[in-house]
Amino acid sequence: MDDCIFCKIVKKELPAEIIYEDDFVLAFNDISPQAPIHFLVIPKAHYANLSGAALADEGIIEKCAVAIAKITHDIGIDKTGHRVVINTGKDGLQTVDHLHFHVLGQRMLQWPPG
Ligand code: 5GP
Ligand code: ZN
Repeated sequence: MDDCIFCKIVKKELPAEIIYEDDFVLAFNDISPQAPIHFLVIPKAHYANLSGAALADEGIIEKCAVAIAKITHDIGIDKTGHRVVINTGKDGLQTVDHLHFHVLGQRMLQWPPG
């Protein structure tokens, strides 16, 4: 997708603080962190949202989950806890239409979300 900022980050056309990369998945720090740790995990291929990705490529969600497991383990928030969020569509306040898993941690998070 030519006009997608996350596709541009995948192609290294836009800078980002990349913390993990493999053949299928990229993770980078959120530009506007909502917790001391706040990074985004995305499939390198462009899918608009969770359902679109799951229906197009059954393996990609698991690959993202494995990346989240590796990263959270490496930085220690597998033990202290963290939250994984996927905002979807207008009511979900999704602002970038390239599937991304928010991973937030290193503070006590609140529930319910707004
Ligand atoms: P959404 O609202 O779609 O769930 O989340 C989009 C997220 O992407 C937001 O948390 C926002 O701060 C982050 N974001 C938007 N543009 C950029 C960017 O250019 N670089 C990075 N690293 N994060 C971005
Ligand atoms: Zn994209």
